[in-house]
Amino acid sequence: METNNFVESWHDQLKSIYLKKKRDRRTDRLIYVIVSDIEPDFIANINRIQLSVRRMGPEERKRRRRELNVEAINEKVLPLLIELAEDSQKRNEVIYKVKSFTTDDIIYNIIVVEDKMKACDCPDFTWNNVACEHMYLLRRYNRDIAVFVISTNLPTPEVFTDNIRTEQQQQ
Ligand SMILES: [Zn+2]
Repeated sequence: METNNFVESWHDQLKSIYLKKKRDRRTDRLIYVIVSDIEPDFIANINRIQLSVRRMGPEERKRRRRELNVEAINEKVLPLLIELAEDSQKRNEVIYKVKSFTTDDIIYNIIVVEDKMKACDCPDFTWNNVACEHMYLLRRYNRDIAVFVISTNLPTPEVFTDNIRTEQQQQ
């Protein structure tokens, strides 16, 4: 039977949440559950998704697309696409090698420091400085590693604080 992550996860939900793991195979009960419990949830869910899609800015939409592209990759292929590099020069630093999705023989390096992804040497990360598909793939492979985020609370560089201090002294 043809299946994918969405169908599998939905089937799990049907079994564990809606049917509460009862081994009741009666079709009339199943139909009752689908109509009375599942359909309202399903519609509420679609409304919620549509609302958040409409709220998404272009950057957010691009991010979501990267994530979705990665979610489409079969779980079983992950170990074939990712490997831990043995030779990181720096302490605390781990490098994961991720195969390009589109071009054979190209491998990108993701630098991980203290379970946080710091950089990938692919063009997408290099030019856009946002989490790339390789990073989302690595997160699927290892949930303990956090995807790259741009730091929003950068410390004020020394130069600026020095200037402020001298200005204050002059007044
Ligand atoms: Zn990358």
